[in-house]
This record gives sequence, C-alpha cells and structure tokens, in this order.
Amino acid sequence: MAGYNIFVLVKQVPDQGSKAGINPDGTIDRAKAKRMLNPFDRYALQAALHVKKTYGGTVTAISMGPPPAVEILMEALEHGVDRCLLLSDRRLAASDTLATAYALYKTVLYAGQFDMIFCGLQTTDGDTAQVGPQLAERLNLPQVTYCEDFKIEDGKLHATRIIEGGTQRVVVPTPVLFTVANSYHPLEYKSFRGTWRVQQLARQPEELKKYIQTVDLDLIEADPVRTGLKGSPTIVAATEKVGDIGGNCKMHEGESPEHMVEEVMKCTNISEFLVASK
Ligand SMILES: Cc1cc2nc3c(=O)[nH]c(=O)nc-3n(C[C@H](O)[C@H](O)[C@H](O)COP(=O)(O)OP(=O)(O)OC[C@H]3O[C@@H](n4cnc5c(N)ncnc54)[C@H](O)[C@@H]3O)c2cc1C
Repeated sequence: MAGYNIFVLVKQVPDQGSKAGINPDGTIDRAKAKRMLNPFDRYALQAALHVKKTYGGTVTAISMGPPPAVEILMEALEHGVDRCLLLSDRRLAASDTLATAYALYKTVLYAGQFDMIFCGLQTTDGDTAQVGPQLAERLNLPQVTYCEDFKIEDGKLHATRIIEGGTQRVVVPTPVLFTVANSYHPLEYKSFRGTWRVQQLARQPEELKKYIQTVDLDLIEADPVRTGLKGSPTIVAATEKVGDIGGNCKMHEGESPEHMVEEVMKCTNISEFLVASK
C-alpha cells in the first residue's frame, strides 16, 4: 500500500455564534470572540483522513495563527491526524492573503515532502478563497479547486470539481493541491480512542510537543518583510456594520421541551423560532 504524505491546512476562526468585538479601526477584535475550526476545513480534514485510511500514509495538519490555534490542531489530532505544525509569530499580525500564502508556503517547505495538500474552500472570517490557489501557485503545483470527490487509481488522482452549471472530471498527477468543496463528505466523528489519547497528551506538554510543533518565521526561513503589514499590499479602506442579521425573527423561550413544543405550535409565521432558555 502506497504511503502518501498528506498535508491539510486548517485555520482557527471566530465562532460566528459568539459576539466578536470590532476594534476602533474596523478590524475584528479576535480576542473577544470564541474560537473554532473553520467549518470549511472540516471537509479538507475529512479528505486528508480518507486518503490515509483508504490508501495509506500520514497526515500533517498545518496552521498559521496565534498560540490558541493549538486548540484546532488538538482537535485535528483527535480526528486521527499524525502530526501538526503551528506557525505562530507576532510579525505575522495584519497579514493579508498574499502574506498569509507566502508564510504558509514557507511552512509547507519546512514541513517536508508531500504528495497532496488539502485546503478548505474558504474561511468564514476572511472568506476570500484565495489562500489555496495562491499557495498552489507559489509551490508550482497543479490545483483542483472546488473538489467534491476524488479517488486514486494507478497513482493518479481522479477528481470531480464543481464548475458553473455542472461538474468537471479531471485527472492529475501528484503532487497536487485541492480546495475541498462543502459538498464533499462531512467530517466523521472523532473516535473515543483518539479523544482519550489527546486528553492524555494534553496533560504532558513535553509529549504533546512531539505531535504539535510550533515554529516561527526564523525557523522556517521566511523573510519577515514579506509577511505582516509590510508584506501586505491590501488596503482596507473602510469597514461598515451592515446591521443585525436575522430579519423579523421572533424568538420564544421554553421552560421545558413540552413547553417549547406548545410554543412552536402557536407560531403562525415560519420566521418564528423557539429557543430553549437552558
Ligand atoms: C490588511 C489586512 C490585515 C489583516 N490582518 C489580520 C490579522 O491581524 N489576523 C488575522 O487572523 N487575519 C488578518 N487578516 C485576514 C487574513 O489576511 C486572512 O484571514 C488570511 O489571509 C486568510 O484568508 P482567508 O481567511 O480569506 O482564507 P481563504 O483564502 O478563504 O482560505 C482558504 C483555505 O486556506 C487555508 N488557510 C487560510 N488561512 C489559513 C491559515 N492562517 N492557516 C492555515 N490554513 C489557512 C484553509 O484551508 C482555508 O480553508 C487581514 C487581512 C487584511 C486584508
């Protein structure tokens, strides 16, 4: 069985269900928001783990972000990833997609040889869908964007990607980069064994470091001038709050499941929803 070197890129994003603050300059105050694994990256993770399970190999999860991003890497370990790299460096603050793709490119080179890289389609915060394709360009790789399914035959990847009005089938050699569509298979549940193992590791920081390596710009030999604000040509001219989402939704509270059902039965309008008080 072939042993593929599989990389998956995962990003920690603010949980949209939590209230993130807005800084005076219009940027998101990420410290105030709850954090989560970018929902789109769950599909990339599933694709990477599928290759490992079906065709053999090891999965390396890579993330760039502040130290709390270690949380999503632990989650990736629970799901069955073999090792993780976290690029964390204060000089990366204010990186736009160009600077982010450069920093991730250097991290990938540092991480070693690979056969395939899986990225999410986009993130729920930056939402540009630029990082995957930019990374492929920097690595001079073929890229299969909007991939919704694939299989490996004779060492070649046969993939189906979404295009306007339909799908397209492509055959690509490795190494290759995919951005995985959210019509791909959802991420499987974590195994009890995986969760237990990571809980044990969390109690032994030295042992955990063997699985999650934190690197900085110097270690990966990245040019700091090409990252952060200096390396970011994007200028955010202005940001504007577009108002609260949710429209005319009326929220009800229920004291018990029975009470909630009674309340829901009284709803005459489809936009009325029930929320549990507990
Ligand atoms: C001027 C400016 C300043 C900014 N300052 C900051 C800042 O200080 N802090 C900050 O967090 N963001 C900042 N951003 C946002 C940041 O540039 C983007 O979030 C980042 O470049 C990724 O772009 P995206 O979120 O649109 O990802 P997309 O291109 O939509 O992501 C596609 C896929 O690429 C991968 N990916 C993307 N980003 C990462 C990552 N960091 N690690 C691993 N995989 C990844 C994931 O697989 C993801 O699904 C700034 C943006 C601008 C324009």
